[in-house]
Amino acid sequence: MTMRDITGALLIGSRDIAGERHFHAVDPATGATLEPAFADAGPAEVDQAAALAADSFPIYRATTPEQRAAFLDAIARQIEALGDALIERAALETGLPVARLTGERGRTTGQLRLFAGWIRSGGADEPRLDSPLPDRKPLPRADLRLRHIGIGPVAVFGASNFPLAFSVAGGDTASALAAGCPVIVKGHPAHPGTSVLVGRAIRAAVQEAGLPEGVFSLLTGTSHELGGALVADPRIKAVGFTGSRAGGLALCRIAANRPEPIPVFAEMSSINPVFLLPGALQARAEALATGFVASLTLGAGQFCTNPGLVIALAGAPLDRFIAGAGAAVSAATAATMLTPAIAGAYGKSVAALESHREVAEIAHGHEGGPNGCRPALFVTEAEAFLREPVLSHEVFGASSLVVRCADADDMRKVAGALEGQLTATLHLEPSDHALAGSLLPILEDKAGRILANGWPTGVEVCHAMVHGGPFPATSDPRSTSVGTLAIRRFLRPVCYQDLPEELLPAAVQAGNPLGLPRLMDGSMAPSRSGEASS
Ligand code: NAP
Repeated sequence: MTMRDITGALLIGSRDIAGERHFHAVDPATGATLEPAFADAGPAEVDQAAALAADSFPIYRATTPEQRAAFLDAIARQIEALGDALIERAALETGLPVARLTGERGRTTGQLRLFAGWIRSGGADEPRLDSPLPDRKPLPRADLRLRHIGIGPVAVFGASNFPLAFSVAGGDTASALAAGCPVIVKGHPAHPGTSVLVGRAIRAAVQEAGLPEGVFSLLTGTSHELGGALVADPRIKAVGFTGSRAGGLALCRIAANRPEPIPVFAEMSSINPVFLLPGALQARAEALATGFVASLTLGAGQFCTNPGLVIALAGAPLDRFIAGAGAAVSAATAATMLTPAIAGAYGKSVAALESHREVAEIAHGHEGGPNGCRPALFVTEAEAFLREPVLSHEVFGASSLVVRCADADDMRKVAGALEGQLTATLHLEPSDHALAGSLLPILEDKAGRILANGWPTGVEVCHAMVHGGPFPATSDPRSTSVGTLAIRRFLRPVCYQDLPEELLPAAVQAGNPLGLPRLMDGSMAPSRSGEASS
């Protein structure tokens, strides 16, 4: 596979569709238009892809966990087989460095393999069996058996800031496929060539696994009409999205207004507050400043977990932190942002902070080339932060705001005033534990992940991860978009009451032929074959 193999066709099942309208990707580092032209899909193509997805669903959802796991493994292998062409094209379309993209590819294939292992071990089925109690008085209890099945075809919106790990074969796609749901991806228009390469890898895996073609389609396009038509299509049963609050909310509205409303799992905006508690600040203000600016400027700050807010008590230790962080920001260079639109939005948000009467600029970094992100650091007082809602809006990029608090009560008030967050971080020493203990219940209400003495960027893909949180971090605080728990978003429980054994699915049959871990009368039964059901 080379870059010359990138075609601009839509991948609808096994068919390449040329499309009538076209668009080009842009190299954000130079502003140059990139070849080839990509098909700009619309409602007609949504209809074709949704029809195929709906046709494939009954067959795909009936596959065994082992068949789906083998399919996810095959996708990982096919992505690796794309070789350097994938990384070269992604670098060209996003301006992200090769090393970062190489790491992101490993994360993407590692995620697919982790999910494969999890469903192989029965993690997604979660069967529960309650034995019949025919002699129970006053009423007997029926034989009740529950398992989870795929919710139906899922629409996935690729994110601009992770062209691999949150895009065509990213966490949402891996979750939905693991759950037994066909996927239609709306590729992000900022990286269509990368999307098509990965889309072809998934298609090859579909063929290798002998699955129906409608299990996967990729629609590239630039219009809101495309995304809107996809979410509105009655054959789509759930949506996964990462991007702006405005975009996520628009899709939530479309989904809620359908004759049959469906769930939208949208990951949107988060400013990831970092609390520097007094003991930690006193002990290591300079080291905290260095660590903070490294996290802030990583990838031009284009992470949903970027530390956009720092909260600390006023005083000499905070002054030391501000001096250190200011110096590091002043020395920072401007990395290229993902798209001209994202760079433009960043510039406007930073200009608004610069001119805000309650905000002082601490430092800004060097100017960059086209679409460069000049890092910026600002400071305000807690009282102003609590009064001015605009100061808690996400600035997507390497900008952060320090909130100076008069006392611990101020810190708790700032914590209490925050919107929902993906993360909240505490830097602390043992002498800070009482204050941390008073902040913790407030932060648990606000955030999906709480860290101590670390930085929020860098999200481990594992079983215990939560990459979610109350609105506006996500549209559904009960879920995560990273880690194996993400698969649950696209599953629904079905209970079988008194069904004859031969009609029951294998996951809940008496002999446990799949060897799944199962909850038997309220206790976990070992995951082995031959266990009795009652
Ligand atoms: P975006 O504008 O939300 O777009 C994401 C995807 O959703 C695109 O495919 C877009 O397609 C689609 N979309 C957006 N609005 C839509 C609507 N009203 N109807 C139908 N489809 C819609 O995000 P972006 O392009 O990645 O970046 C823009 C801003 O989003 C950034 O400046 C940043 O503020 C925020 N962002 C946040 C995160 C985060 O993790 N918190 C990540 C990335 C971006 P079309 O535009 O082609 O319709």
